[in-house]
Amino acid sequence: MNLNGKVALITGSSRGIGATTALKMAENGADLIINYPFEAEKENAEAVVARIKELGRKAIACEANVAVLADTEELIKKVVKEFGRLDILVNNAGITRDSLLLRMKESDWEAVINVNLTGVFNCTKAVTGQMIKQKYGKIINITSVVGIIGNPGQANYSAAKAGVIGLTKTTAKELAKRGITANAVAPGFIESQMTENLPETAREKLFNAIPLKRLGQPADVADLICFLASAQADYITGQVINVDGGMVM
Ligand code: NDP
Repeated sequence: MNLNGKVALITGSSRGIGATTALKMAENGADLIINYPFEAEKENAEAVVARIKELGRKAIACEANVAVLADTEELIKKVVKEFGRLDILVNNAGITRDSLLLRMKESDWEAVINVNLTGVFNCTKAVTGQMIKQKYGKIINITSVVGIIGNPGQANYSAAKAGVIGLTKTTAKELAKRGITANAVAPGFIESQMTENLPETAREKLFNAIPLKRLGQPADVADLICFLASAQADYITGQVINVDGGMVM
């Protein structure tokens, strides 16, 4: 997967799947923008930047809340000023606020939709002008298998992730003639900070639903993202690809 000289922005990349993808892209030759939402995450973001620099690639850490359009526009301006272009956008930032529908607070609904769906819209809108100018771009959106099959306790999250699938397909259709591809990656159960607090019974149930009989690792997802970002995937657009050990088929 040759990403030599490509410039990639990964939202929410100070840890988890985002950070692992950033390091893998750097190993494959890309320069990286590591995004984090709030000051508190700066140290982790700078640690990822330092590891990328050790690999001989350029990297910077940039604060921006993807839920705020003005933040994302400012972020893209900074990226273009610093790197001169932006080849790859990975919309990875995500949060959960789980509870059953009956008890779900309006604020939990809004927070998840704002980050997980509006955040993807904001960043995509903010990069489109630059990518059209370049006649080149790869947009990779991280959805989830629950956006396909639903999940009790995750009305907000599964609705946002289903929305990301529709947004990906429309982005792909609108921008195909501009040399830009858009695809979605749908992870199943991946070990990260997002899933570490799941109760043991829920973990066991999920584990039993995975035919390949192991939990996913961030690297499993990162490999697919790097492939979709590479020239080997130039003829793939508008697709949703699961990385879930066979959980949904
Ligand atoms: P993590 O919680 O480890 O990482 C999420 C990242 O997103 C964090 O760095 C977080 O920053 C960042 N983030 C949150 N809100 C914002 C915001 N408003 N603006 C910018 N960045 C933000 O989760 P994962 O690595 O597991 O998840 C990555 C993606 O994969 C998410 O979209 C998630 O929904 C998806 N996914 C994960 C699955 C899993 O099993 N883990 C399964 C299916 C999909 P901070 O630390 O400051 O909150």
